[in-house]
Amino acid sequence: MIWNPEKECADRQQMHAWQSKQVIEMIQRMYENVPFYRNRLKEKGMEPGDIKSVNQLKDLPFTTKSDLRDNYPFGLFTVHQTDVVRIHASSGTTGKPTVVGYTQKDIDLWAEVVARSLTMAGIHNGDTIQVAYGYGPFTGGLGVHYGAEKVGATVIPISTGNTKKQLQFMTDFNATVLACTPSYAAHLGESILKEGIDPADIKLRTGVFGAEPWTNEMRKEIEKILNIQAFDIYGLSEVIGPGVSMECECHCGNHVFEDHFIPEIIDPDTLEVLPDGEQGELVFTTISKEAMPLLRYRTRDLTRLHREKCDCGRTLVRMDKCLGRTDDMLIIRGVNVFPSQVESVLMEMTETSPHYQLIIRRENNLDTLEIHVEIDEKNWSDSIRELEGIRRRIDQNVKSILGISALIKLVEPNSMERSEGKAKRIIDHRKC
Ligand SMILES: [Zn+2]
Repeated sequence: MIWNPEKECADRQQMHAWQSKQVIEMIQRMYENVPFYRNRLKEKGMEPGDIKSVNQLKDLPFTTKSDLRDNYPFGLFTVHQTDVVRIHASSGTTGKPTVVGYTQKDIDLWAEVVARSLTMAGIHNGDTIQVAYGYGPFTGGLGVHYGAEKVGATVIPISTGNTKKQLQFMTDFNATVLACTPSYAAHLGESILKEGIDPADIKLRTGVFGAEPWTNEMRKEIEKILNIQAFDIYGLSEVIGPGVSMECECHCGNHVFEDHFIPEIIDPDTLEVLPDGEQGELVFTTISKEAMPLLRYRTRDLTRLHREKCDCGRTLVRMDKCLGRTDDMLIIRGVNVFPSQVESVLMEMTETSPHYQLIIRRENNLDTLEIHVEIDEKNWSDSIRELEGIRRRIDQNVKSILGISALIKLVEPNSMERSEGKAKRIIDHRKC
């Protein structure tokens, strides 16, 4: 089923017309109400009247995370405070949080795109959704919540943490859908086994996972351990929260709801727009949000766009699963390394669990990479020779995919710290 066929299956010309109309209106509102945007456009010698079509987006200025921080907390709002009905904030690792505001129309729009997303994953009013994303200033919990209610599903707003209670609610309330970070989904799967819960008591059918990059190999692992079909939901609070794009049943990338959020891929160094199919930094312009629209916001996520027809019938542009963020990328001995590359190696091996950590140090001016890998309970052995065999295979596979060698350390089953939200995959001692 498709929640909004008119928008999700529109022909390109129609989509183009909608986008152009919205972009023109949005630039006008930004110019009139936000000094930051007015100044940026003036610097480029532009006025709202110059914008006639969405094709001119590529000539407009970018917005970055530091622009959001510089205008903290409400400097980029285009509406009066009386029209703002909610504020979310994402905690940055450094400095001030990133603040976003919503009018009632924005909240309705958010519920609409999440309803489209959940429907794309086959979720309907007969489902019970356990929302194990954090509720609070983080957009995950409340974002999925409103969309789930809109499709008429039953929502269990349990938020993160308290794994025992998660499992109790999951079994007693017959949850059919789990929504959380992929790393927490993997942890819940393991906990089901550990607690000795009868798999027949688990009614889960579908998982809606996001808020951290994850590989297709990780998907297979989670699908196996929870006996479900897993879907990637993508979003970031600056754009709206979860529901910016979503994977359909074809699992061939995420459909972007481009009638509201226009994606572009740019070269992060030259800032030129790249053609479809080429990898670069994802940029979004939110064309229908009222309280805090964003013009060409640089997400730092790395991906590609595709416009070929999808078997699901939707015509919306697709983005590949994000490889990582430009700021996730590690440069080790001059080589670009993404944690997702290591994850894809580990998840293809049956002996490893979905828990790993990359530790980077600088010793005598040389970067060293150490990878801690947790061994699956079934494959933990007292035989040093067996473990050494596993270690050597990881070593070879990692080296062939990264192009640099790493020190592989195997750790015992269940010994790594479990995350209830986003997993901490990287410890970079070079920054200390
Ligand atoms: Zn599709």
